Amino acid sequence: KLRIQLARGEVLFREGEDPGTAFLIESGEIEVRTRQRGRDVLLSVLGPGELVGEMAVIDESPRTATARALDDCVLFAIDRHQIAERLAATDPIIRSLLEGQLKRYRGALAALQGKQAAPDALSPSERLGISRIRLEAQLREALAEGQLELSLQPLLDVPLGRIAGYEALVRWDHPERGPISAAEFVALAEETSLIVPVGEYVIDTACLAIARLVAAGADPSPFVAVNVSARQMAHPGVIERIVARVDAAGLPRGSLKLEITESGVLDYGLAAGLIELCHRHGIRVALDDFGTGYANLCHLHRLPFDTIKVDQSFSHDMLDSPRAMAIVESAVRLGRALGAEIVVEGIETPEQLQALRRLGCRYAQGYLVGRPQTLAQLLAHPWD
Ligand code: C2E
Ligand code: CA
Ligand code: CA
Repeated sequence: KLRIQLARGEVLFREGEDPGTAFLIESGEIEVRTRQRGRDVLLSVLGPGELVGEMAVIDESPRTATARALDDCVLFAIDRHQIAERLAATDPIIRSLLEGQLKRYRGALAALQGKQAAPDALSPSERLGISRIRLEAQLREALAEGQLELSLQPLLDVPLGRIAGYEALVRWDHPERGPISAAEFVALAEETSLIVPVGEYVIDTACLAIARLVAAGADPSPFVAVNVSARQMAHPGVIERIVARVDAAGLPRGSLKLEITESGVLDYGLAAGLIELCHRHGIRVALDDFGTGYANLCHLHRLPFDTIKVDQSFSHDMLDSPRAMAIVESAVRLGRALGAEIVVEGIETPEQLQALRRLGCRYAQGYLVGRPQTLAQLLAHPWD
């Protein structure tokens, strides 16, 4: 029954019962009482528009209080699956913190009632949630104190046989844990808007690094490719701020490429608008990790990417697996047909590079061409 009518004094649920549903009060008032140290204690009086009994539904524990109608009431039963689904959809860290809070609240209540309280150790998921919140706070501190660094990985112009540009990869050397992989902390930063200042740091540092390389005689001027996350791109005014930083570093606009990953492109409308805006400002855009997500080819033909970067999983297998080779080959052809330049990532052996040459691929990136290096390391070695 969805709509429930209670007469004054009637009990909605009793302490100790298993929770079936929560309730939304339409009219009338409900009081919630429990016994503490042998005394009857009023916990709350709830009225129209308020929820009652949702707590036990959230953590699937027996009711810890009794709810009774103070006058004639009408309530809506809120299905427990409706709440469970919403709970499952929330940020997992928040969910485990909430669960932990409820557990401790129940523990404290049980103690007041003179009952045996469940041990209130942190659960593994709570521990994980807290460690991620700690890491996030440390990342914020690292950013503020200049502990993040940038590595630059060269891209080879395959037909010309020279370095054409660099991809900027952010690095974090954690004071206690040592180096943390970019994949791990970028993913963490992307869960909140922390990715926005991290991204601005990367753009800034990357532009200044390339300006330094040019000043040190890099010829021709290399391009710099910077990874941007979908969340960062969704931030209003982000392109304008990026353009201002390129200008401030004294770089030609065309020397910056933004790399967005396939998953970031799933929002077609957003991606189309951003590419258009970038092009209007003279900035190029690359589709990163091509082949790993669910590349939507219907979208690809309408999104005018300047570059498509084929994921390293294909180049790793290319020489052993005819299917992987066929994918790299068709990506090169696709790029040609769409007027986009192709980069194949993860090139580690001369044989793989030779295969790219044969396929007519424009750029190669990978440990064979060069490992990511700091600006200081790059400046210490003259390039050819
Ligand atoms: P990505 O954009 O696909 O970057 C290439 C990754 O492959 C880098 O890992 C690079 O070090 C690694 N790599 C390059 N050549 C080779 C190779 O020959 N073999 C192998 N096995 N690996 C190679 P890294 O630096 O750990 O970055 C991981 C991911 O983190 C990046 O993948 C990118 O998605 C993200 N990321 C890195 N820096 C940033 C950043 O500044 N902003 C954002 N939003 N994401 C970033
Ligand atoms: Ca990338
Ligand atoms: Ca990639």
